[in-house]
Amino acid sequence: MNHYKLLLLPGDGIGPEVMREAEKVLTWLGQAGIASFETEFDLAGGAAYDAHQVAVTDATIARARAADAVLFGSVGGPKWDHVPYQHRPEAAILNLRKELGLFANLRPALCYAALAEASSLKREIVEGLDIMIVRESTGGVYFGHPKEIVTLEDGSQRAVDTQIYTTGEIERIARVAFMLAKKRRNKVSSAEKNNVMKSGVLWKRVVAGVHAAEFADVGLEHILADNCAMQLVRNPKQFDVIVADNLFGDILSDAAAMLTGSLGMLPSATLGEKDPATGKMNALYEPVHGSAPDIAGTGQANPLAMIGSLGMALRYSFDMLDTADLLDRAIANVLAAGVRTRDIVSPGISPVSTAAMGDAVVNELKALSK
Ligand code: NAD
Repeated sequence: MNHYKLLLLPGDGIGPEVMREAEKVLTWLGQAGIASFETEFDLAGGAAYDAHQVAVTDATIARARAADAVLFGSVGGPKWDHVPYQHRPEAAILNLRKELGLFANLRPALCYAALAEASSLKREIVEGLDIMIVRESTGGVYFGHPKEIVTLEDGSQRAVDTQIYTTGEIERIARVAFMLAKKRRNKVSSAEKNNVMKSGVLWKRVVAGVHAAEFADVGLEHILADNCAMQLVRNPKQFDVIVADNLFGDILSDAAAMLTGSLGMLPSATLGEKDPATGKMNALYEPVHGSAPDIAGTGQANPLAMIGSLGMALRYSFDMLDTADLLDRAIANVLAAGVRTRDIVSPGISPVSTAAMGDAVVNELKALSK
């Protein structure tokens, strides 16, 4: 039985509540003899600020680096609205991404048949949807310098953000997208704005180069990011993998997310580069949602985004594809059986608690693996 080391950072608000349900799945994986997990816990976000006056300590970052993967809950909340900007709870994720070199953010948008009604689009447009958005997450306009607001001679102000991408940054994110597509439906849509942005011209050229040199057997289309946004709400099932820079990826992944219904259903992964010598890849798995202060402590949070994030860890960090598929099937079956937390409830169904949803998934895993 393979043995893995996980760092669990439950964070704030509903983070610890949904993390507990993912832990139930980890316990089951051990009991079923599939894989054993050594788990270590640490503070992140507001909880870390309260204890150490920073959103994440260097010691925690070192632990994250030493682990095979990090499971992250959620951070933030009104309690920490007043803390200095550089120590705000959300800085925990940005620091972990930066320090662990996590450049590839993967966000699947999957529409379970049982939840198709929860989408804002018509059932036939979203039912069975399964797309993956790959967003470059350490470069681009969010990080480029100069980044400033300057006061001009006439007293008015000018704001500047800088979009920067190098060949290497584009090549490595393109490779992630092509490799993922090979394990899916073999198609990559690369979204940029080469019609108005130099970074778009380079993006398109470099993606085309990586495709021709290494992945000519994968389908590739170049698509303008604005058209991609339009196509996502017109006919999302035309896509398999979409790759985009940090800014466009941020917007496209949020649009795609909403096709599937609730925030409580959306997992994500952020991956680093594989060390060629050791084969180790830093990786962090987290639900897309935040700490939901409005429902924290009430037992209403949906744990499926967190459990789905663990599923992504099984798939991308531990190569446990069959087990990841099994977990996806268990989630789909639980939903099909009408088990619903409050955020995804439909008329005539009484919502279950966070813990009951976690139990239902584990029971379904047991039933499926008999
Ligand atoms: P949020 O995602 O926490 O909540 C938005 C809405 O969705 C709320 O009504 C909430 O109850 C609901 N919701 C979210 N997750 C849910 C779940 N699992 N089950 C059921 N309902 C769920 O976003 P927000 O309210 O804008 O932010 C709250 C705090 O979280 C802020 O401090 C924000 O900065 C932080 N935040 C953190 C992360 C992160 O940790 N990655 C991401 C986004 C926001």
